Amino acid sequence: MSNQTKYELYKNHLERIADVRYSGAVLNWDQEVNMPKKGAAQRGRQLATLAGIAHELSVSEELGALLEDLVNANDLGAVQLKNVQESYQDYTKQKKYSKAFVEKMSMTITKAFHAWNAAKKESNFALFQQDLSDLVDIKLEEAELLGYENHPYNALLDQYEPGATVAFLDPLFEGVKTNCVRLLEKVNSKQQPVIPFKGKKFDKDAQWPIGIKLLEQMQYDFEAGRQDLSSHPFTTNFGSLDVRVTTRINEDDPLDMISSCIHEGGHALYEQGLLPENYGLPSGEYISLGVHESQSRLWENNVGRSLEFWQCNFPLMQQYFPKEMEGCTAQDVFHSANEVTPSLIRIQADELTYHFHILIRYEIEKAILTKSVKVADLPALWNELYLKYLGVKVPSDAQGVLQDIHWSHGSFGYFPTYSLGSFYAAQYFNQAEKEISGLKSMIKAGNLLPLKQWLNQNIHQYGKQYSADELCRKVTGESLNVAVFMQYMEEKLGRVYGF
Ligand SMILES: [Zn+2]
Repeated sequence: MSNQTKYELYKNHLERIADVRYSGAVLNWDQEVNMPKKGAAQRGRQLATLAGIAHELSVSEELGALLEDLVNANDLGAVQLKNVQESYQDYTKQKKYSKAFVEKMSMTITKAFHAWNAAKKESNFALFQQDLSDLVDIKLEEAELLGYENHPYNALLDQYEPGATVAFLDPLFEGVKTNCVRLLEKVNSKQQPVIPFKGKKFDKDAQWPIGIKLLEQMQYDFEAGRQDLSSHPFTTNFGSLDVRVTTRINEDDPLDMISSCIHEGGHALYEQGLLPENYGLPSGEYISLGVHESQSRLWENNVGRSLEFWQCNFPLMQQYFPKEMEGCTAQDVFHSANEVTPSLIRIQADELTYHFHILIRYEIEKAILTKSVKVADLPALWNELYLKYLGVKVPSDAQGVLQDIHWSHGSFGYFPTYSLGSFYAAQYFNQAEKEISGLKSMIKAGNLLPLKQWLNQNIHQYGKQYSADELCRKVTGESLNVAVFMQYMEEKLGRVYGF
């Protein structure tokens, strides 16, 4: 059998795995958006069955044999070879998990998730403590099983951001910390802007069409997607031709829905920008969570929180909320979108202090994985760090150490990708500005097509053909450089606060 024939068989195998995975994703989407309450129990087993089938397919001997042959082939094209290498790596990794270990981990996670839910409801960390400790142990076992150099955290980070290590993140976050502290001091020395529409109510039905119009302006393809409501906004996809987003609406703050629509829209444009002919293959999949987040944040922050964006879209706000927006200007919305106030809750944080929330989680994750802090001492450590970095007193575990779902899923190493997303976003947007002449005036005119096409061409279309670092160097000429993000924040906050 020729290598090209084997490649076709491999491709077909991966497409079938994708069929099963994406079918599970449809059920998941339905669970979040449509499913009646009683459907939960049976839906749980349907999802588990599909996940089981996908896992069996992805560790099958047949696939293994094809990959062993193809990974050494010298007559494949460059893209084909990269696909095979990526798949082989993934296959080898999957093989390291025994069935018994997967089951044990799944049970530990389910139990911890329920404990976290109860603990959060009662705002009592003690109810979660033992299960979290079990999770830490099983995650350390997983790190051993996967193998790592220097720090067990590296094995876990790699699952979300391939290539990221403690040695890479430590100096990066150290720089971010110093610069964010300095910039926050500058902000604190100034008056908060007065926002005239604050405190007013914004009818939910009137908000909805604004979100849809903004998605259209971003060139989100409604023939390859749709938007619905859900309690936690998310993006999901079943291939690149059906990419769905959800949003939530807050009557007290229209910018909540608007920023979430643009954020999820940015994630969705990445998925819609992957090439349909690469369905199921690594070249048809996103690079890393950090790069995915760079796409959502580029749209949400660099575009959607810019003055030019609001100069364009303020009339839309006036159209749907003529009374509420009386006496307001585009500048007011721009100020409101960029107000910096240290706060307790990560998902409500502003663009600057957000990174303190991540920094704190990063420090804690490293410490619990090396057992240099006891799980029982986490709430105290959490509260101490919030006071130190954000100057806020944490009133309860629910608003503190229990606020995020991630640890209850055993997702240690996930949080840093949020910050990486913002830093990559600033760098990519900066590059787009250099290459698309008049980008800012295009945003002011509501013409977002050139930016979307630039992202399609430079980032989306490649899928996993490049690593996060390779792509960053290819597009911007250098590796991740936090100075670009800091420069962008300094300029923008300077415009808002007048320094
Ligand atoms: Zn996101």
